[in-house]
Amino acid sequence: MTAPANPAPSARRLRTRATLLAVLGEHGTLSRAEISRLTGLSRSAVSSAVTDLLDEGLAGETTATTATGRGRRAAAVTLRRAHALVLAFDFGHTHVTAAVADTTGALLGEATAHLDVDNHPREVLDAARTLADRALAAAGHTLDAITAVAAGIPGALDTRTNVVRAPSTLSQWIGMDPAAELGRLFGRPVTVGNDAEMGARGERAHSDGQAVNDLIYVKASTGIGAGLLLDGRIYRGASGISGEIGHIQLPDTGTWCRCGNRGCLESVASIVEVRRRLAHVLSPGARESVELPPLGELAAVPAAARVIGEAGRTIGRVLADLVNCLNPAAIVIGGELGLAGAPLIHGIRESVDRYAQPAVAEAVEIRASRLGLRSELYGAVDAAVAAAVAG
Ligand SMILES: [Zn+2]
Repeated sequence: MTAPANPAPSARRLRTRATLLAVLGEHGTLSRAEISRLTGLSRSAVSSAVTDLLDEGLAGETTATTATGRGRRAAAVTLRRAHALVLAFDFGHTHVTAAVADTTGALLGEATAHLDVDNHPREVLDAARTLADRALAAAGHTLDAITAVAAGIPGALDTRTNVVRAPSTLSQWIGMDPAAELGRLFGRPVTVGNDAEMGARGERAHSDGQAVNDLIYVKASTGIGAGLLLDGRIYRGASGISGEIGHIQLPDTGTWCRCGNRGCLESVASIVEVRRRLAHVLSPGARESVELPPLGELAAVPAAARVIGEAGRTIGRVLADLVNCLNPAAIVIGGELGLAGAPLIHGIRESVDRYAQPAVAEAVEIRASRLGLRSELYGAVDAAVAAAVAG
């Protein structure tokens, strides 16, 4: 999707867009003047919203198909696949969410299951089918209404072969082609990308009306990966495995990583490590694994905030190099660690200010995702809509 050149305030823009999609969905083909008359929106508001829809490929324009009141032929706007619905999946390490959405990106139905995704690919695919049926039922539709499917998976996907590669937390998925497997289940073309890439797409699609062309989305969870939106495009790299920042080495750490190296970022700052340290700080000496309150609440406890801030500074040390290299406008932190909020973001900011060049550090906004844990799901919706519109 192309971001508009002159974005209006988001809420109004989204309302205008929804109104246009509704009126075009109802009437089929309309001139701009007719849209303005039917919706009560100003000609300029209609014109700018139509331009957005044309840019995004959601609408097409034809000339000499609609006569205006004065008998003059005017350009007419038609919604492409007005009633197309898409199916989107967010695969995490311990959950799968399915959602049904329309081409505006609005979610119509949703279903989630918690299960061991990494170790049981077959069961996960069965669950995907069941969850899709539940999401479709919630939306009041059947699979017949779905024109495209997209999924984000928490592992490295080789775009040359479509198969899952190591280093991957999805060890039982290595060598599998998730797009082909899901395609067999649903009988539709399926777009699959890694979760961080989908997160970057989700953040762009819900960027509050701001044009975002250079954004780094960090999924900070069991693994730590980055989705790179560069110059308005998702950057996947030569074989689709860009953004593996979890395996960038930190100086002065000797912790073994699951990739076989020592001192990787995710071996010291993954949610698993942060939780382990929080448990140690909050319940020193506890032998059993401790049930921790949600990270967002812990941020208010000074000792916990220190642990979280330290993880932020560690992640920020790696992000500072990325900031030096790519000069992004925004870094958005998602994943479970992103829910820790202020202490984490302050820690990251501190390291970026300390280690990145002042001019690039100053240019980057660093924030937690406003979508909570849903950036990946919204990104998968965005990818499915793009496929539906192109198809
Ligand atoms: Zn590693």
